[in-house]
Amino acid sequence: MSLEDFISRHHRLFILTGAGCSTPSGIPDYRDEQGNWKRSPPVTYQAFMGAQATRQRYWARSLVGWRRFGQARPNGAHQALAALEALGKTELLVTQNVDRLHQAAGSSRVVDLHGRLDLVRCLGCERRTPRGAFQAELAGRNPHWAALDADNAPDGDADLEAADFSSFTVPGCVACGGLLKPDVVFFGENVPRERVERAYEHLAQADAMLIIGSSLMVYSGYRFAQAAARQGLPIAAVNLGRTRADELLTIKLARPCAEALAFLL
Ligand SMILES: [Zn+2]
Repeated sequence: MSLEDFISRHHRLFILTGAGCSTPSGIPDYRDEQGNWKRSPPVTYQAFMGAQATRQRYWARSLVGWRRFGQARPNGAHQALAALEALGKTELLVTQNVDRLHQAAGSSRVVDLHGRLDLVRCLGCERRTPRGAFQAELAGRNPHWAALDADNAPDGDADLEAADFSSFTVPGCVACGGLLKPDVVFFGENVPRERVERAYEHLAQADAMLIIGSSLMVYSGYRFAQAAARQGLPIAAVNLGRTRADELLTIKLARPCAEALAFLL
């Protein structure tokens, strides 16, 4: 069966997307085609919370990385999935990406499973601040660092390696002085329960699952493929490498996402 047939035969698709959707937009993937890390793993929640030095390193890299990450634009994969929603085929789109490019392309039935990088969250008072405004504050306090450049990393930071991040100033919350964290789920941190429950509620209404650009190596996404299989739903996947759910798939396309979905545009 072709992907086109698969989509035409089903009417309430539960769609899960991952990094492979956003790589053509200039946001690199963490993993190679075998599903292994291709770079040093991202910061963990425990490391971020545990040490000021880790937060200095994180925000210094983020200051440099955000300039490009914040300007990323949707590509054909995002546009094709927005077109699929416009056809009334989308029960829900759950994305593991934190770049908001599905929304930028016009999708609205979206759950940002791992949060969104365009907001900064205060862990003291839960105030959210746009990342763009915070960028100006970071740059103002760290003019030397703001002049640096480096390659992008997938979570919006940059491959910036300095011997010493201790001169980097990390502002606290303007309202309460609390610790600021990007409004994303870090490795080692749980996805908020209401987000997971909302996804499961929609999965229960779905008649098929479509996985786009994810190896499902992270359990927070893999569990939905397991649940879909338990429900007896057919599952199609587009991913350039192997996925953790390969044995559960009805069809599998090892092609770039935008190319595989181009028939929708
Ligand atoms: Zn606060």
